[in-house]
Amino acid sequence: MASNSMEDLVALCKRRGFIFQSDEIYGGQKGLYSFGPMGVELKNNLKQAWWKAMVWQRDDVEGLDASLLTSPNVLKYSGHEDTFTDPLSDCKDCKSRWREDQLTDGICPNCGSKNLTEARPFNLMFKTSIGPVDDGSSYAYLRPETAQQIFTNFKNVLDSTNRAVPFGIAQMGKSFRNEITPGKFIFRVREFEQMELEFFCKPDTDEEWFKYWVQSRIDWWLEQGIKKENIEVFEAPEDDLSHYSKATTDLLYKFPHGFEELEGIANRQDFDLGSHSKNQSEFNIKAKVMENKDSTTKLAVQDLDTKEWYIPFCIEPSAGVERGVFALLNEAYNEEEVEGKTRVVLSLKPHLSPIKAAVIPLKRNNEDLVNHAKDLKNKLQMLGMGRVILENSGNIGKSYRRHDEVGTPICITVDFETLENQTVTVRDRDTMEQKRLGPEELINYYGQYFE
Ligand code: ATP
Repeated sequence: MASNSMEDLVALCKRRGFIFQSDEIYGGQKGLYSFGPMGVELKNNLKQAWWKAMVWQRDDVEGLDASLLTSPNVLKYSGHEDTFTDPLSDCKDCKSRWREDQLTDGICPNCGSKNLTEARPFNLMFKTSIGPVDDGSSYAYLRPETAQQIFTNFKNVLDSTNRAVPFGIAQMGKSFRNEITPGKFIFRVREFEQMELEFFCKPDTDEEWFKYWVQSRIDWWLEQGIKKENIEVFEAPEDDLSHYSKATTDLLYKFPHGFEELEGIANRQDFDLGSHSKNQSEFNIKAKVMENKDSTTKLAVQDLDTKEWYIPFCIEPSAGVERGVFALLNEAYNEEEVEGKTRVVLSLKPHLSPIKAAVIPLKRNNEDLVNHAKDLKNKLQMLGMGRVILENSGNIGKSYRRHDEVGTPICITVDFETLENQTVTVRDRDTMEQKRLGPEELINYYGQYFE
């Protein structure tokens, strides 16, 4: 039966090279993780699946990869300098620090003391100096979300493509937040990746697009292998909305520590383009924006029927890559009894598997077997489904175990019969069934995993 405690997952991630604590040899850094050989493949596959669905398979979205260091003006007018804060409270006795929502009845969860400071706003953005002189006169922020540079590049994308509203701009990449209490493995970290789409539409069509994106994002997570019963849809109450939002729906996933946010879909209205825009008073901006005297550009479009200029509304589905990886690992992890032994198997969807196939020569020192396996590996690699590996350990049982644990959909064994008639033994990860296949059958069989 499935057993997915946090400990099991963390142990698997370390044992098989998915995720390591950063700077572990110096004691580790809280809230920072590194993706190992298997983790980087899984993460890239997840991001690629998102990019395919959000950009390639659509005719109304363009991509962007903007800088991470962000000018203070961008984060001033976006509202982040003033409002991107969590209320922070210190325990005067044990010196631990807490987000206010972690305290029940004003008691320190660490030592039980009631001797806590008043909660004060703590800005979550990382600040760094720019240029050779570190005198505080020139600084930038590490972006706390990928979204803002999508808004500041809105006009560049519009003018360099033939897009018209409705259309979207997609971006994936790092974001940084100085979380007060990082934890729960990679659920809450200080450096993470987001996959964000800003979808621009006419003001009176926002609610329709909002509904469309909520459903579309649920469908996508189901396609990645998340079970329906493990997703909950949570509509944020009005008094809990961010300063820019008219409505927010969170997709919660059943992590080992409980249902928590995997992705948020927000109706950002005309807040961001409105607040970054020059000559704001020319437009009928609905959201409450700060007066802007610094912007050089109008972030508006023309209605082709009425010829009126307006600021588009924006719907934002925003997903975290780390939380996605965590959810997929949790979903795929299984322990089962096979011939009196426990088998750990990661039943990832093949398009997400770090390794698509392992080619294993029966004997590690036999040159003919190894050369044949190398050729086969190269042939399969050329098909472009992802990483294929030559597993030259000389121990079939161990190789199967390793590849079950990292989620490789098929193992292919090259033996002495292969040298005579080109047939190989293939083994399926989930059913453990083995078959003997000729060269053409093998290519077809392999391809079927990725249809
Ligand atoms: P939370 O309430 O859990 O702090 P949030 O509502 O602040 O999250 P958003 O600003 O909506 O998060 O960011 C969009 C997505 O980015 C989230 O759904 C999540 O997947 C991811 N994300 C946000 N903060 C973190 C973090 N500290 N570590 C990992 N992923 C994060």
